[in-house]
Amino acid sequence: TARKRFGQNFLHDPFVIDAIVDAINPQSGENLVEIGPGLAALTEPVCERVDALTVVELDRDLAARLRSHPFLQQKLTVVEADALKFDFSTLFRDGQPLRVFGNLPYNISTPLMFHLFSYAGHVKDMHFMLQKEVVNRLAAGPGSKNYGRLSVMAQYYCQVIPVLHVPPGAFKPPPKVDSAVVRLVPHASPVVDVKDTACLEQITAMAFNQRRKTIRNSLKDALTEQDIADCGLAPDIRAEKLSLADFARLANALFSKKEGQDAEQS
Ligand code: SAM
Repeated sequence: TARKRFGQNFLHDPFVIDAIVDAINPQSGENLVEIGPGLAALTEPVCERVDALTVVELDRDLAARLRSHPFLQQKLTVVEADALKFDFSTLFRDGQPLRVFGNLPYNISTPLMFHLFSYAGHVKDMHFMLQKEVVNRLAAGPGSKNYGRLSVMAQYYCQVIPVLHVPPGAFKPPPKVDSAVVRLVPHASPVVDVKDTACLEQITAMAFNQRRKTIRNSLKDALTEQDIADCGLAPDIRAEKLSLADFARLANALFSKKEGQDAEQS
């Protein structure tokens, strides 16, 4: 039976499973990693196409089941771990970027994506089943009601490509929400210049935490009105209107201020 605390909704619709594996398009020799393989709905068809796959599964019983699986055990490396805490650099192989995929437990999907963004330079692509609403937020641009911190941070690291809409009936038990598969492709070189990603995270979190307020107000603990104007932005604009490039300039302004303060102190 499914363990609710592990966000277990198992895929069972063969058309949806085929469509996802086609979207991933796994090839032998690639450094493939599945997060949350569960009962192997995706694991099996992927292993039909490739020689080797690493899976990261938190549930001890499911991990044991995979380790002794009659035809998968030859190809699988089963890591029993919490993907949120797992050090993915242990899977790096020379010249073989990671290809990550998974039907994620929805309660951990956002922190897990942030965890994986920290390895973006070593990742070729990621395919995730997510709540449809989360895919909408990942892909949203300025002016959209779905545009927020997740959109800005995801698009800073990756190209975001929605792939497939998946209805609740494709899972057992069916989740309460619509789902969707997204492809995230880390940028080969940065699309905007950001001196310090922590500053970008801080600025976007502050700006969208009070999304109805002007940035003069929401950013007032970080930047002055003059700092904002120096970024070429009107201080009475709202976060939802700002582009990734605007956020990058604000983040760099914050970084310069922090550096200035450090210099004064030393
Ligand atoms: N891939 C399977 C499928 O599509 O049918 C299972 C998907 S189910 C939504 C999520 C899976 O992730 C479960 O097998 C669950 O035990 C596992 N899981 C939950 N939390 C996890 C974590 N923190 N790290 C790794 N796996 C986790």
